[in-house]
Amino acid sequence: MKKVECEFEAETLSAVLQGRWPARAPDELRAHVAGCELCRDVTAIAGAIEEARQESRQMAAVPDAGRVWWLAQLRARRDAVEAASRPITAAQVVAFGCVVGLLGVFIGATSGWVQGLVSQMFAGSWPASVNDLAAHHVLLLLAGAAALIAIPALVWAALARD
Ligand SMILES: [Zn+2]
Repeated sequence: MKKVECEFEAETLSAVLQGRWPARAPDELRAHVAGCELCRDVTAIAGAIEEARQESRQMAAVPDAGRVWWLAQLRARRDAVEAASRPITAAQVVAFGCVVGLLGVFIGATSGWVQGLVSQMFAGSWPASVNDLAAHHVLLLLAGAAALIAIPALVWAALARD
């Protein structure tokens, strides 16, 4: 009849789980296990469980803390750049719209004058209406010049803040 209990079972189990089996186990325990079927089963099963535990521990290797920190810094910086570039893009779109609108107003306001200027130049005379430009459109010219200077300056200031 097969034994269901052995007085050396606990000792055999602890030797296997502590990695002492079989090289660093006492001689008398090895001699007992050689003749005891129950303790042989214990070494086989506990050995397999311990091996699987070691394997899963190696597979679940935690990455280096420095690398984790570095990756977190990288992600935070990328998120900050993304968040900061969103309002800049909106400001650029608004600025572009303003410039296009101003150009449209300017061209619309001066088209008659430009046509007259071109026809006079083809006729070979220096147009006297050049002097009129400053008198009639001084506010428009100043606004256009201010926009051309102010918009790049504002964009540059927004970028320089980073
Ligand atoms: Zn035994």
